[in-house]
Amino acid sequence: MMDYETIIGLEVHAELSTKTKIYCNCTTEFGGEVNTHTCPICTGQPGVLPVLNKKVVDYAIKVGLATDCSITPLGKQDRKNYFYPDLPKAYQISQFDLPICTNGKVEIEVDGLKKDIGLTRIHIEEDAGKLLHEAVDGTLVDYNRGGVPLIEIVSEPDLRSEEETREFLNQLKAILEYLEVSDCKMQEGSLRCDVNVSVRPKGQKELGTRTEMKNVNSFSAACRAIKYEAARQIEALEDGEVISQETRRWDDDKGKSFTMRSKEDSHDYRYFPDPDLVAISIDEQWIKRIHDELPELPRAKVERYIKIYNLSDYDAGQVAGNKAMADMLDEAVKLGASAKFTCNWLLGDISKILNDKNMEASEIPFTARHIADMISLIDKKTISNTAGKKVIDELFDSPRSVEQIVKEKGLAQISDEAALLSVVDEVLKNNEKSIADYKKGKTNALGFLVGQAMRLSKGKGNPQMFNDMIKRKLDSL
Ligand SMILES: [Zn+2]
Repeated sequence: MMDYETIIGLEVHAELSTKTKIYCNCTTEFGGEVNTHTCPICTGQPGVLPVLNKKVVDYAIKVGLATDCSITPLGKQDRKNYFYPDLPKAYQISQFDLPICTNGKVEIEVDGLKKDIGLTRIHIEEDAGKLLHEAVDGTLVDYNRGGVPLIEIVSEPDLRSEEETREFLNQLKAILEYLEVSDCKMQEGSLRCDVNVSVRPKGQKELGTRTEMKNVNSFSAACRAIKYEAARQIEALEDGEVISQETRRWDDDKGKSFTMRSKEDSHDYRYFPDPDLVAISIDEQWIKRIHDELPELPRAKVERYIKIYNLSDYDAGQVAGNKAMADMLDEAVKLGASAKFTCNWLLGDISKILNDKNMEASEIPFTARHIADMISLIDKKTISNTAGKKVIDELFDSPRSVEQIVKEKGLAQISDEAALLSVVDEVLKNNEKSIADYKKGKTNALGFLVGQAMRLSKGKGNPQMFNDMIKRKLDSL
């Protein structure tokens, strides 16, 4: 079999977190009773006129500047015509030939290799309504989402693997979160992507025919979809088939993609300038104002964490890749906590609990102050590391002061030798095999015994004292 290369390009839609919709004053809030966040404009009644929400352009410029795009001095909005019940006007207002941003890039790093992924364009458009197929009598439609502002970020076909795709999406999400232009909640559809995949024999210059996959709802689904689609195309080519340009629907439960329709070309949409909207003129001052508002971006943060906080490349990347975590780290350091310890807690126990609870870091119910207080108690040896873990558990369940938790749960460390002695005796009595191992020179048996003592003391014993006491006993045996 020939050696193939997979070529991936993405179209990422991000819902912008403006208070109101793109062309009317309806709220953009997620959910709500069906068809209550609506008005004559966003339901496309005859005779109404849309007025562009300036914040939407602000946000698009912001994303453009953060991704090294050129900002157009003159943008316009166009009607993209298609007929579908989620679109009451039978056209979507989007941008065709004069998008707000063009020609940008996002830097990714996979396996230590840095690479720029080009951005073809970023344009603004309105979201469509939502079809509710689960309705008892056929399908109903909810227009609450109709008219919520979106930016569509189109990448160049620069991605070559699932890993690169995941990293690109992570970086892009981090940028959007840092800029605070989108809440990026994938489960609420705030961030969605269409994945374009083609394959070509390695060494071939021209691109193969691509297919576009819709309905990709998570980063891991994007990776699964790419893997499946590349394999499907390679198999077809090996069988002598021709890949047809088409739009496919990704079914993540089945782990397969299915033909939806042959891919439209842009002329199928009969784009033309929306006569109800004026041109968007963006001058230098506007761009400068947005530029001055840009926060420290993820890449800069990674560098600062490595240089100033002395974190490893990996840790710095992990924390900086998540705005909520990065904010917590910076805040805890300001409160006097060590960056390294805070980072370990964030990436260790706290991340594990977030995973178990299926929560985002932005949903952590406690503050950097809690982490800083907990670390300070560990530093002062008032509580052990193990007790620190209990404090974190308690903070997740019901956030209250660390001191209160330590008192309530009796977590203060016991450093009284007499009190620890009974625990040590008990552990040695029950672990004869480990004692024998230690005597045979297996020194890690000591660590095991200390662990047992910590467990027996419910994490309250002073681990260093346990270590010293057990070692002394063992050596005297
Ligand atoms: Zn409205």
